[in-house]
Amino acid sequence: MKRRDFLKIGSAATGAMLVGGAVPAEGAEKVKPASEGVGVDGYVKEPSRKIPVIASCDILVAGAGPAGFAAAISAAREGADVILLEMNGFLGGLWTGGSVLPLNCMEARTGSGWKQVVYGVADELAVRLKEMGMSIQPGRSPIVDPEATKHLMRLMVKEAGIRVIYYAKACEITKSGDRIESVLIESKSGRSAIKAKYFVDTTGDGDLFYWAGENYRYVKHHIGAMWRVGNLQEDNDHGSMTPIKGVGLMHTNGEYDQDGLDVFNMSRLNDSLRQYMWDKTQELRSKRGCEEAFLLETPPMLGVRVTRVLDSLRNVSMTDALENRTYDDVVGIAGVDIDVEIDGNKHIVSERPQWQIPLRALLPRKTPNLTVAGRCFGYEHDITYDAREIATCMVTGQAAGAAAARALLDRSAVQATDPAKVQATLRSQGVKI
Ligand SMILES: Cc1cc2nc3c(=O)[nH]c(=O)nc-3n(C[C@H](O)[C@H](O)[C@H](O)COP(=O)(O)OP(=O)(O)OC[C@H]3O[C@@H](n4cnc5c(N)ncnc54)[C@H](O)[C@@H]3O)c2cc1C
Repeated sequence: MKRRDFLKIGSAATGAMLVGGAVPAEGAEKVKPASEGVGVDGYVKEPSRKIPVIASCDILVAGAGPAGFAAAISAAREGADVILLEMNGFLGGLWTGGSVLPLNCMEARTGSGWKQVVYGVADELAVRLKEMGMSIQPGRSPIVDPEATKHLMRLMVKEAGIRVIYYAKACEITKSGDRIESVLIESKSGRSAIKAKYFVDTTGDGDLFYWAGENYRYVKHHIGAMWRVGNLQEDNDHGSMTPIKGVGLMHTNGEYDQDGLDVFNMSRLNDSLRQYMWDKTQELRSKRGCEEAFLLETPPMLGVRVTRVLDSLRNVSMTDALENRTYDDVVGIAGVDIDVEIDGNKHIVSERPQWQIPLRALLPRKTPNLTVAGRCFGYEHDITYDAREIATCMVTGQAAGAAAARALLDRSAVQATDPAKVQATLRSQGVKI
């Protein structure tokens, strides 16, 4: 397929794939459920109450997936006092908690082959996992072991002096003017608040920018699962293996057009996907070398690909990527997935150059002390596959953390941050831009 043809199809697909869109005025939206799909059976009134402030910091990073991890490390390495907030009891988000083990998008495809384009925190992790013998490279993307990845992320977060608060779900924000003042959390300690000067939204679902009243695109996508099976023989017909001997990886794309923020839909999918994982693992036993296979783990997190995507100061697109668009405020070089998505299906195209991520794609339009990274930063639908892969999430995370740290030093709005200073910070952290 020629680039020209692809662009035509890609932009047609973009229009067709969008659902939802910009939110209505702040306030009106606040009393609505998070998702249009959730039925509402009347309302109850929550009594107003005082919320205790249990911690404060310079920069609060909400969500400890690949993006949040990289953001926290980046900001802490610049001397900021960082809290990393996570509703689960482990680091890594979908990478470790969704068994999404292939680290995609470290590379880009030129005419002659693939070359590594992602460096910085993502590369540090990849190298250290390889040194531990906890990543294998059967194809282009390394496949990691989730427990080793969780362990290493925890060590790196400790090394950087980051405070991690686990089992705490951000459930609202308070504001002072346009600025976010605190994030309210719900945990077994009750509802409480954490104050910070700057915030990074790496929740994957854009929870913070949603509460802040930013505009966004609402996407329904495939919701599927990846899971691990044990007891595979060295020589087997299944194929996808992990670094642990005898442990393989399975995958289903799942149903398309699924709402990842609708609690009833997620409950339904949770049930059907866990049944599917069980059944498929039994079927696997009919393959050679898999006769003794068993279901080792259904992952804690279901495979929600995309929900809210920020309407940023500059949303990047596949057209930008394929036309090698460059930006004065570039803060990340991203690699590519093997395929591109057209009408919800993957297609292979031959030219997939590296692409640039501008700082503006990580910046909301209104909130002066918030940056956004990971699968909910500002991009168009046609580049979804490249934009939300794990390496890209770490690229945007590292940049969003560096931008917040820079704004903190300059006491400026993130939108007024000097991109050259953010670039200098990132270069000093080993990022190649
Ligand atoms: C089925 C499936 C297969 C995939 N396959 C691949 C693949 O092979 N290779 C690849 O590179 N990528 C793959 N991806 C994409 C990739 O896994 C994700 O896009 C990536 O992990 C997103 O990283 P993130 O940090 O933005 O968000 P997430 O990984 O979703 O992390 C978000 C974190 O924030 C936490 N969080 C969310 N809300 C709150 C809150 N309110 N308060 C506190 N914490 C919160 C979550 O618990 C989580 O830890 C796949 C995705 C899916 C669903």
